[in-house]
Amino acid sequence: MEIEFIIVLILYIIVSIFLSIEGTRRNIGGLAIFIISIFLTPVVGMIFLFTSPRRATGMHYVKQYRCKRCKFNFTEKHDYCPICEREGVKVELEPRWMKII
Ligand SMILES: [Zn+2]
Repeated sequence: MEIEFIIVLILYIIVSIFLSIEGTRRNIGGLAIFIISIFLTPVVGMIFLFTSPRRATGMHYVKQYRCKRCKFNFTEKHDYCPICEREGVKVELEPRWMKII
């Protein structure tokens, strides 16, 4: 009787820990999932976990404008490269997507 209670308690904590590990990859966070799982059972923790969206990870792209002449990248759009324009040369910028990690 008592040993069964201990086994269930250990399983309860193990499941809560596993849920909180997955929780760290989501907006809700690992600690919140762990607290919910301990106090409101891991079943409720699982509901909170899978309704929370995954955190955006990995790569993001940002639009930049690159000058073919001076190879400078601008974050804002210009009709012509401001650096080359100062030298009296009008160079159109080409838009491209830059990877940001
Ligand atoms: Zn330029």
